[in-house]
Amino acid sequence: MLKNTRVVLSKRPVGDATPDCFTVETVEVEPLLEGQIRVAVEYISVDAGTRTMLRGEGFHAQVDLGQTILAGGVGRIIESTVEGWDEGQAVRGGLGSQTIATVTPKMLEKVDDSVGSLSVYLGALGASTGVTAWIGIRNVAKPQPGDIFVVSAAAGAVGSIAGQIAKRDGATVIGIAGGNRKVTYLTERLGFDAAIDYKNEDVNARLRELAPDGINVFFDNVGGPVLDAVLDNLAMRARVIICGAISQYDDLDNVTGPSMYLRLAERQSVMEGFAFFHFPESIGPAAAELREWIDDGSLIMDEEILEGIERYPEALQFMFNGGNLGKLMVKAG
Ligand code: NAP
Repeated sequence: MLKNTRVVLSKRPVGDATPDCFTVETVEVEPLLEGQIRVAVEYISVDAGTRTMLRGEGFHAQVDLGQTILAGGVGRIIESTVEGWDEGQAVRGGLGSQTIATVTPKMLEKVDDSVGSLSVYLGALGASTGVTAWIGIRNVAKPQPGDIFVVSAAAGAVGSIAGQIAKRDGATVIGIAGGNRKVTYLTERLGFDAAIDYKNEDVNARLRELAPDGINVFFDNVGGPVLDAVLDNLAMRARVIICGAISQYDDLDNVTGPSMYLRLAERQSVMEGFAFFHFPESIGPAAAELREWIDDGSLIMDEEILEGIERYPEALQFMFNGGNLGKLMVKAG
C-alpha cells in the first residue's frame, strides 16, 4: 500500500513558527477516485508568506489545525484517472508539504522537464519567486537607467532576482541582507553595485554614504526598521514598492512602522504594494523571459535544498532566521 508522509499544523504558532508547531505523519493513501491524479512530489517550495497562513485568518489562504501545510510543489504523476494526464508527466501546483499528493487537474499545470531539475519551476520560474520579482520590477517598480535601486532580503529568492532584473534594466543596485556571507554573495556572485549588512551595519548611515542624492526605487521584502531607514533616504519622486514584510509576519497583530512615512510627503514620493496574482496577464511573459535568461546563462538563481519531507518545519525556521541564499526548498523524496 502506498504511503504519504505529510507535515500538518498541530499548534498555531505564537511568534516564531517553531518545529513543535508541526507534526510529520505517515498515512496510507486512499484508492484514487474518478477525476483524481496522484503525484509523487519531488520539491516543495518554502515561502515566507506561509507564516501568514498559519494564523487562522489573513490575506492568504489559511491552514486549519490538523491540515497539511499549503505549499507549491513539483513532481511527477504516478497514477491518473484523467485522460490527458499521464503517468510520468511532470507537473507543478499546490501539492502541499507532503510526499504524495492526490489532486484534480485544476490544481495542476504540466511543465516541460527539458529545462533540467524540476526545482527550477519553484525557483527562477516559480510564481512566488522569479515571476514575482519580474512582475514587481517590470509592472510596478519600473526602474529607469541611472536610478538608485535598493532591495531588501536581497540574497533571498525574490530579492536576488529583483536586483538582477533592475541591474539589467540599467539601475545602480544596492542590496540589503543579513551577514557578511550574504553581502559578499550580492556583490561578488550577483554583481550588485553595493550591499549593506543590516545585522552589523547602520543601514541609514550606509545608505547616506552609498546614495548621497537619495534612493529612487526601493523594492521592500522585509518592512520594519529597514523600511524606515530607506524611507529616510529617499530621493524626490521616489517609488517604494511593498512586495512583502517578512520582519512582521511572526506578529501580524502588532505590525510596527513605518514611522518615517512622512518622508513620502516631503519627497513627493509614493508607496505601492502588489501581489504577483494581481497581474495574471504578466505571468506567461514573465516566465518566458526568465526562461530565456536561464537558457543564455545570464540569470543566477541559487537553490538551497533541505533533503527530506521531515525537514520542512526546520526549513521554515531556517528562512526566518535568514539561513537561505537564493530559493529555499525541501526535497520531498
Ligand atoms: P527569501 O527572501 O528567500 O527568504 C526570506 C529572507 O528574509 C531570509 O533569508 C532573511 O534574509 C530575510 N529575513 C527574515 N527575517 C527578517 C527580518 N526580521 N528582518 C529582515 N530580513 C529578514 O523569501 P521569499 O520567499 O523570496 O520572500 C521574500 C519576500 O517576498 C517576503 O516578504 C514574501 O512575503 C514576499 N513575497 C511577495 C510576493 C508577492 O506577490 N508580493 C510573492 C512571494 C513572496 P536575511 O539574512 O537578509 O535576514
